[in-house]
Amino acid sequence: MGGPVEPFKIKMVERVKLPDQEQRTEAIKKACYNTFLLNSEDIYIDLLTDSGTSAMSDNQWAGLMLGDEAYAGSRNFYNLEQSIQEVLGYRYVIPTHQGRGAEHIISRVLIKPGKNIVPRNMYFTTSKAHVELLGGEMPDVIIDQAHDPENEHPFKGNIDLDKLERVIKEKGTERIAYVNVEMNVNMAGGQPVSMENLRGVRELCNSYNLKVVFDATRSSENAYFIKEREKGYCDRSIKEILNEMMSYSDACIYSAKKDCLVNIGGFLAANDKEIYKKARNLVVVYEGLHTYGGMAGRDMEALSHGLREGTDARYLEYRIKQVRYLGEMLMEYNVPIVKPIGSHGIFLDALRFFPHIPRELWPSQTLAAAIYEESAVRTMERGAVSKGRDPRTGKNIFPALELVRVTIPRRVYTNTQMEYVAESIKKVYEKRDQIKGLRMVYEPKDLRFFQAEFEKIE
Ligand SMILES: *Cc1c(COP(=O)(O)O)cnc(C)c1O
Repeated sequence: MGGPVEPFKIKMVERVKLPDQEQRTEAIKKACYNTFLLNSEDIYIDLLTDSGTSAMSDNQWAGLMLGDEAYAGSRNFYNLEQSIQEVLGYRYVIPTHQGRGAEHIISRVLIKPGKNIVPRNMYFTTSKAHVELLGGEMPDVIIDQAHDPENEHPFKGNIDLDKLERVIKEKGTERIAYVNVEMNVNMAGGQPVSMENLRGVRELCNSYNLKVVFDATRSSENAYFIKEREKGYCDRSIKEILNEMMSYSDACIYSAKKDCLVNIGGFLAANDKEIYKKARNLVVVYEGLHTYGGMAGRDMEALSHGLREGTDARYLEYRIKQVRYLGEMLMEYNVPIVKPIGSHGIFLDALRFFPHIPRELWPSQTLAAAIYEESAVRTMERGAVSKGRDPRTGKNIFPALELVRVTIPRRVYTNTQMEYVAESIKKVYEKRDQIKGLRMVYEPKDLRFFQAEFEKIE
């Protein structure tokens, strides 16, 4: 056993504290049992998200010193543009402050009154919010297997082409704004999409003359799974795979805070010139000039290096295997997790973890709070609290998957720390019968999971 060997050595460390039991109980109560409201000072291992939490390399830090902070035409923009053109193969690049900036812009470019339906493989919180804020809807067209945490389909993020075609026919082609495909579907447990499926989506959309926009945020990790699992790709480089993947889209939005190993940033990239021209107009209104889009020059420089480093096959192997190491330990302890193990974290199945807690008492939220109280490890609810209410009926939606995301930042924690995490979750599992659930006492209107407040049921 043991975790995968690291393809790097550590040059700088950051001290972390491990608060004692009394401090942890106090801290989570003060945070109203919402791990988003915890103070990071009170956390030993922070697995809330893999977003913006990666460790940068010496080369990326050096890049920060080469920031060209010109308002227009910064040299770092051209480096970024070149990096994206090479690694992903898109022609046009527009930087944004982070992924949701790009989502905002693509939604405004492509969604119109009456043309506001965006089918997608499951959903992502901010992606869905931008579509709904413009009066649209995001029907889920992922394969059924994705909703079953125990199904071991190798490409559980795939779009169900029949479902997609049914949505197009039922709603009418003219009402579809675009088809949106997420790589390594976050809400499904970090599950990849196959090349064959991307090709299929493209062909279907061509036959209905529909635009295809990727949420390419975790495309590098998705490319690794294609290399590992899909016939014909084991000898192809990650960059070649990425270039082929992106060739099936008209544009993509990208949160650089994940696979690109930087703390902030994002972009919109396109092959479609019309999308590019409209997006370039809007970015000036909402983000900044089209050669910085809300990012400092130095941040664009770090991103241009990070995109390349994040596609190094040895790094990706270490990355995916560290996540697998944690998942396999949990499986050995019989803790219920989503299978197969995805790219960026382990997803605990709260419905099987706490079969005695009703959905109305938020089992995933309860589990994330209990893990913190046990160990000072921070995780995140990804279930009914995240899903929110149906915008038409106002009722809570209880999705098939009620999960806790144990997300692993890139190049940050050691394999020994993964062992601590596995042991901690095991301890909560052993006393699961004593845990009764949470009551929601404050509910914000939009993206409620960020700021909702709860009380413990004793
Ligand atoms: C993080 C993320 C976003 C939003 O990006 P931000 O950089 O957080 O604004 C969009 N889609 C997916 C799949 C993400 O993981």
